[in-house]
Amino acid sequence: MSLPSTTTAPSWTEVAGAFPALRQTVNGHPLVYLDSAATSLKPTVVIDAVSEYYRDYPSNVHRSVHTLAGRATEAYEAARARVAGFIGTRAENLVFTHGTTESVNLVANGWARRHLQPGDEILLTPAEHHSNLVPWQQAARATGARLVYAELSPEGHLSMAALRAAFTPRTRLVTVAHVSNVLGTENPIRQVVELAHRHDAVVVVDGAQSVPHLPVSVTELGVDFFAFSGHKMCGPTGIGALYGRPDRLRETDPLLFGGEMIAEVDRERATWADVPYRFEGGTPNVAGAIGLAAAVQFLESVGMQRIAVHSRELAVEAAERLAPLPGAAVYGSLANRQAVVAFNLAGVHPHDVAQVLDSLGIAVRAGHHCAQPLMATLAIQSSARASFYLYNTREDVDRLVDGLREVGRYFGR
Ligand code: PLP
Repeated sequence: MSLPSTTTAPSWTEVAGAFPALRQTVNGHPLVYLDSAATSLKPTVVIDAVSEYYRDYPSNVHRSVHTLAGRATEAYEAARARVAGFIGTRAENLVFTHGTTESVNLVANGWARRHLQPGDEILLTPAEHHSNLVPWQQAARATGARLVYAELSPEGHLSMAALRAAFTPRTRLVTVAHVSNVLGTENPIRQVVELAHRHDAVVVVDGAQSVPHLPVSVTELGVDFFAFSGHKMCGPTGIGALYGRPDRLRETDPLLFGGEMIAEVDRERATWADVPYRFEGGTPNVAGAIGLAAAVQFLESVGMQRIAVHSRELAVEAAERLAPLPGAAVYGSLANRQAVVAFNLAGVHPHDVAQVLDSLGIAVRAGHHCAQPLMATLAIQSSARASFYLYNTREDVDRLVDGLREVGRYFGR
């Protein structure tokens, strides 16, 4: 499938056909790719958009006046508008970054360090990815603020009651993942925002696992900042974005100083370009932005609502079929589960699970998933994780379940 030109949404078979990486065998088996939460596969339209830029108009942006540079600048800014529209906002509220990690660091260093005072509190949960935790630890260390954790519910979900109870008059910032990369849980961001804004606290949402799967409108959610990564949503690596409410972006300091982020420079000082350009010092990832816009167009052609239902159904089916396997523990509950299923088989190290599955052509992740505080809360070191996306099928779930039976036989379970 090339870029869909019809108004009818493509079938799931057509969708899977758009991903060339799926046309290979791995260790003698057709590939089943269940590691999209780490990074997604890329459709041909994205690969083509990136190659076209490098082949036909590989120019810098916002600088030269020649034709190729004009085309590159136009494509880069059109990409900003397209990606912004995809999350329900306007181009001027969207900063291109290299991904969620950089986006969170921009808020933690550019906003939080400027606004937090000693004794202020940053409220978060133990389920955060390290990329939405370590930057806050550093900001707290630098400002004298402290981290306050709202403990999870017994099922491992964000607990609104715990969150409510954790607010104090010093709570200045609340940060949570929209969807957990381990438990797969979708958190009730609108409720979090309502609660936080009642306490005049700023809300920063890690959308790395939600934007690829759910229709998201940052405007409807009412968040102050929202971070996500292109490579998990069919786009290239090294590109992502930060949404900031216009007033919040204006009160954020830039992190990268240098070319293209300035208005005027003299020997002693400089003034900054407008938002969002002041946050994009140096030559940006032009090809990445163009590829991400192609990814967005592709996802829209399939339909975000359809994708949300599809990956959720596959994850729920996988969770339901894994749970009864001998010695299996599946983490998180079925309620609000999105595309992720983390699990362990008693007595088998998750790396061994992943290795045996790989020998059968099935790619899953094993490890702590950059969520060591959550692993500690769950009283485990690590887990295996299968994650689903728009190119996966029910046959992939069958292959996973059969593969895990094989793992069990291999380890004498
Ligand atoms: N937050 C969550 C929930 C994630 O799953 C990830 C990546 O796995 C990140 C943040 C970090 O994303 P990136 O490595 O693209 O910056």
